[in-house]
Order: sequence, then structure tokens, then C-alpha cells
Amino acid sequence: MEIPYKIYLEENELPRQWYNVRADMKNKPAPLLNPATHQPATLDELSAVFCRELAEQELNEKDAYIDIPQEIIDFYKMYRPSPLVRAYCLEKALGTPAKIYYKFEGNNTSGSHKLNSAIAQAYYAKKQGLKGVTTETGAGQWGTALSMACSYFDLECKVYMVKVSYEQKPFRREVMRTYGANVTPSPSNTTEIGRKILQEFPGTNGSLGCAISEAVETALHTEGYRYVLGSVLNQVLLHQSVIGLESMTACDKYGIKPDVIIGCAGGGSNLGGLISPFMGRKLRGEADYQFIAVEPKSCPSLTRGKYAYDFCDTGKVCPLQKMYTLGSGFMPSPNHAGGLRYHGMSGIVSQLYDDGLMEARAVEQTSVFEAAQQFARIEGILPAPESSHAIRVAIDEAMKCKETGEEKTILFGLTGTGYFDMVAYQKFNDGEMSDYIPTDEEIAKSLADLPQV
Ligand SMILES: *Cc1c(COP(=O)(O)O)cnc(C)c1O
Repeated sequence: MEIPYKIYLEENELPRQWYNVRADMKNKPAPLLNPATHQPATLDELSAVFCRELAEQELNEKDAYIDIPQEIIDFYKMYRPSPLVRAYCLEKALGTPAKIYYKFEGNNTSGSHKLNSAIAQAYYAKKQGLKGVTTETGAGQWGTALSMACSYFDLECKVYMVKVSYEQKPFRREVMRTYGANVTPSPSNTTEIGRKILQEFPGTNGSLGCAISEAVETALHTEGYRYVLGSVLNQVLLHQSVIGLESMTACDKYGIKPDVIIGCAGGGSNLGGLISPFMGRKLRGEADYQFIAVEPKSCPSLTRGKYAYDFCDTGKVCPLQKMYTLGSGFMPSPNHAGGLRYHGMSGIVSQLYDDGLMEARAVEQTSVFEAAQQFARIEGILPAPESSHAIRVAIDEAMKCKETGEEKTILFGLTGTGYFDMVAYQKFNDGEMSDYIPTDEEIAKSLADLPQV
């Protein structure tokens, strides 16, 4: 069958249920632990921080399929199904016998896949009768997505934005404000933990871990509020399975069988969402695939981290999660521009990786931006730096096929566009971008502070 450049599914082919890969995993991810007692976190404990139904999803490792509420499907219809693109032009430019496909999630105003979970989380908050939600944002994509989702459901939205991004990305901030969100640079003096950090480190640029603590504290102290998170959690991977389900439907429809499936990995949500349904087939023995997670060499949680219980935030208020981690105090070097800076990794992805069901690769940011530039010039889309980690490895794999003559089918997740990342592109274009790879000593130092569980 002739494969078109873009495979667009019909509206009625949108998934009606999310897929929960935990149901098919023999070794389940380890339970979240209460940070005070080190006992498995209960539904009631989680419900104090998260919306009730989301807390239920967080703990649900039994149901393989969970219905997507009609209100969420109606919102998805505004920008989904997203296209599965055959990168004919890239294949030709590389001179590779490999067939390259990418699932493009950048076709919405937030510019990334994060809207898939933002709209679900806002829906459950509204359904519970809440007034608003709090969250953190690093680069700004999650905050933008959540602002859009909250304005759609008429919810208040308080975003703690890592200070350095707040200053470097004023346009992201304005998009959020346009959608009605309240944006505060973190650390701030609006929370106890923020005031403490400001006192200890007066000139600090802020970090994701600190912004999370501020957002959680505010949610716990504000009537009618809960906290929402854009990655890492099981519920987020569940919502993001819409990416993998659509990809699988499109592949099956055209008889495409991916050999290699590649995704960039920050907290693991797009990767987990893309691979989940395919992983399900692998776990059930129905098919086999090679899965590759791609992370930055400057923040290498899977390739150089430890699989252990750790704090999810600097303030140590969130439940403990067993995950591949660099330690909650780990900070990627300031010259790292490409996102994917979280110290830990989704519990589901961590367990799959630990079981040898998937691989991980770490890449240097200059090579990531080379791939980004090449992709932008050949395929037309200006990719987000995060997504470009996956592009890097997809190109590497395609070039291997050129050497061996193998006609592999490669599928990767193109998670978003990079229009708000032009400071990073500018550094690359000016030849001022450098790579920093943490030493073993630096990683050992931050791992020394893991909680004793
Ligand atoms: C947030 C983000 C990522 C990384 O987050 P995951 O949870 O690992 O998917 C990747 N790409 C883009 C465009 C993002 O905005």
C-alpha cells in the first residue's frame, strides 16, 4: 500500500479509552510512599494533594483500559487525532533504506503533547467541584497547556515558574496570562519553602524541584485547590497513551510494523504514552519491538542514575517514588538548554527499563541541536529541543541502516515545536553552545542524600 506523507485518522478513530500498561506488567512499579511514615501512600492521603479520581488512576494497576470521558474527547477533537508523518524527505536526504515515521504532537497552541494530560486533569478537578489547581513549570510548556485546559473548564490556575525561565521566556509567561493563569516566579515569598530557599540561596535561579514544593504547599493551604503535575506520575502516562494508541491504529491501518520506537525522556510521560500500547503487545507476547529512551548527557537519570526511592521535590513534601534518579538535589549545569532536566524518571518507565524491556541512550546537546537544525531544514518543522533528542537517535539509527543495508522501520515521537526556545537556538547558531557531562563524583554527591527506605 502506498503510504501517504501524513496519515490522518478520522475523528471517530480517536481512542475512547486510555491504555494502562501497568495491567500487563509482570513486575509492577513500586508503590508511592508517604514521606513521613514510609508506608505505601493511601488513596485518602493522595486525595489530599491530587483530585480524587486522579489519585484513583494513580493507584490503579488492574484495569488495562479506562474510559475517556466524553468532555475530554470533545476537547481532544479540536487538535486530535494528531498526524503520523512519514519522513520521506529526511529518508532521502540521509540516503537510508530505513523508513522513518514520527508522531507529531506540536499542533496545538501549547506546542506540545502536554495538553493531552492537562485537559484530563482539569476535567477531573472541575468534576470534583474544585476552585482551582496549582502547578510548577520549568520551560513553560506544561504551564501553558494547563492554563489552556483550566480556562476551558473555567478553573483558576496558579503556576510557579522556575525563575530563570520566567525571566528568559517572557512570551511563554504571557501566553499563560492570556489564558487567565496567575504566574509566580519560583522561589517566591508566597510560600514557606520559597522563603526558606530565598534566605539560604538569595540569588538562586530556581529549580523544578523547588517550584513543585511551592505549588504543593499552596494547594494544601488554599481552600478548594489541588496540585497537578505534568509528567512522571502514572496518571500522566495513562493520559498520554492516547499518543501510542493513535500511532498504533495508524500503523495497523497501513500495515506498518515499527522495529524501533524512540522517545525523548524527561519525566517519561511522552515516551511512556507513545510506547505503552506497543509495550503491551510485547508484554503479552504478541509482537516485539526495540524501545529507546533518549535523555541528555547532562541529566542522565536512566543511564547513570540509581534505581531507588527518592524525593520528587526539593521541599520533600511529595510522596516518595522508586525510580531511576540522580538525587533530588541534582541540578543540571546552567549551560544545559535543552529541557529534560528533571532528576528522576516515571516509575513505570523505570521498572520497564530495569526489567530490560527497553534501552536508554544519553546524547550531548550540541549533537541534539545539529539534529534539530537538520530536521528543521529538511522536514520543515522547527522542533523543540526536548523532541530533538529523539530526532538525534532516530537519525543515528537510520544511518546505521545505511551501513548495514537493513530496511528497518523507525518510529519516533516529535513531542513539540521550539518557537519559545530561540535563545537556545541562538547559542547554537552563534557557535556558543557547549556540552557539560557531570562527573561520577558530582552524581555520587547528590545520590548520597537519598532517603533511607
Ligand atoms: C515536557 C516536554 C518533554 C519531556 O517531558 P516527558 O514527560 O518526558 O514527556 C518533551 N518534549 C516536550 C516538547 C515537552 O514539552
